[in-house]
Amino acid sequence: MPTSTLDTPLFLFGLTTGVALAAASQFFINSLTRSQSQRSLAATAAAALLAQQQLEEPEDLVAGALKHGNPSTHLTPSGRDAALSGSLPALRRQSWSVPSFVAADGTLPRLEMEFTVSSKKLQTMVRHMVNEMRKGLESDGHMLKMIPSYVVARPAGDETGSYLALDLGGSNFRVCMVELRGQGQTAIRQSKHMVSDELKTGSGEALFDFFATCIADFLKSIGIDPKEKRALGFTFSFPVEQNAIDHGTLMQWNKGFACSGVLGVDVVNLLNKAMKKAGMNITATALVNDTVGTLVSHAYRDPQTFVGVILGTGTNAAYVERIADIPKWTGDRKNITDMVVNTEWGAYDEQSILPITSYDQALDRASNNPRKQILEKMISGMYLGEIVRYILVDLVSTGELCRGIFTPKLQTPYAFDTAYMSRIERDHSLELSDTKAVLENMLDVHNTTVQDRRIVKHVCELVGIRAARLSAAAVAAIITKMKRLDACTVAIDGSVYEHYPHFANRMRDALRELLGIMAENIVLEQARDGSGQGAALIAALHAK
Ligand code: ADP
Ligand code: MG
Repeated sequence: MPTSTLDTPLFLFGLTTGVALAAASQFFINSLTRSQSQRSLAATAAAALLAQQQLEEPEDLVAGALKHGNPSTHLTPSGRDAALSGSLPALRRQSWSVPSFVAADGTLPRLEMEFTVSSKKLQTMVRHMVNEMRKGLESDGHMLKMIPSYVVARPAGDETGSYLALDLGGSNFRVCMVELRGQGQTAIRQSKHMVSDELKTGSGEALFDFFATCIADFLKSIGIDPKEKRALGFTFSFPVEQNAIDHGTLMQWNKGFACSGVLGVDVVNLLNKAMKKAGMNITATALVNDTVGTLVSHAYRDPQTFVGVILGTGTNAAYVERIADIPKWTGDRKNITDMVVNTEWGAYDEQSILPITSYDQALDRASNNPRKQILEKMISGMYLGEIVRYILVDLVSTGELCRGIFTPKLQTPYAFDTAYMSRIERDHSLELSDTKAVLENMLDVHNTTVQDRRIVKHVCELVGIRAARLSAAAVAAIITKMKRLDACTVAIDGSVYEHYPHFANRMRDALRELLGIMAENIVLEQARDGSGQGAALIAALHAK
């Protein structure tokens, strides 16, 4: 395993961090004032400097800061990120609260420990994940499925024409008409439909009939006769064993889906049958994973794009691999140099590395796919709110939150959406008034104190930061595997990345910890509508 690709940046990181931390500490020491919070800041920064001089490990650094600092000073995880990534502006931005709510013998300090992932842990995860990727490329049956996508070309940017695409993400189903205008320009018309829980867990036939109805309605709404002959790109974001660009059998449902009669069946065939039954003359010609679609779609405008990531209902990533490094590929290798590989990284579940807590275990046990998709359950939109809910239930049960008073809503699985975490993390008001509103309106939790709300916000931070850091480690693993530390754009789609406050910055901070100065070569870019456009592009490339 080539650790050398990591060691150099880590060494550089150590150097730059030392210098930046020294500067940061000096800044804070100089600006020491009488204000309690600023005194705490200075003490913590000085402690960090002291610790930096003596200690190697990031955990030790933090422990050192806590030991040497004002005993009531509390270094929050993002402060720790700032200190560790040596970013002075980030260090300045960070508030070291003096949380009266952190009782030394209470649940919160334990949560703090359990949810904090050190740089060292992340590095271990990167190394391990690279190794798992290699295994998955060698043969089937490993932790990471590393599914060859049959997509061997990335767009040149000059493709043109109108293509129909479907996108089944997890929460929504979209029908898109994508117009490729060349020069990386696209125009998209689309309709968006919620997939009800009934459909998600009903029969496969009902699900695919629903798709056909949505397509027909959409085409009519934009003045196109559904009976016209046309090709379609189908983004189907579930683990599929693909054996041609237009053929793939479902290996496993996830993200709350459990339709009968689809496992082990060719989903393109199911879709084509449903469209035919509805009287349409449309054929699905490309089956695409949303990560692959995101990658290809972004590459249409930025040729440096080699990775596509989804951070939405679920999480996954695809990247461009050398065909020579996919030993398990048995297809034709002639004229092929690269192929997009769908990692299915959500299935990563190394117990000795992932910081799996009792809350993660409880969530997993109660889920409809126990012991599967463990990484996904720690970082994606479907689950983050639920982890927070489990923690809140625990804190209420110990009497540390809301005077121990439960509400039925709080005890309802999945009643706390990840979008609420975003609102709470965005709430910087003195009284945390929006947090109050979220708790009242969404969880029926009334009469909260500011203290309660600060606890809730802190819990969201812990869960949100852990998610961003684990996501960054997974991205670093792919970049390391590709040996593209010199330049790479990572296209990221999904509501969690797009809307969750600080998610992108937290990922970036963790990437700096992992890759040092090399992290500057990695561009994380928001991709929108990537999966739909990508499917259309792949249909276009395939038609070429
Ligand atoms: P899909 O995965 O179906 O493509 P999205 O990318 O929109 O759809 O992701 C939906 C997921 O994102 C849901 O799990 C939802 O909880 C979460 N989500 C939606 N809005 C937000 C938000 N503002 N902040 C954080 N998460 C959000
Ligand atoms: Mg999506």
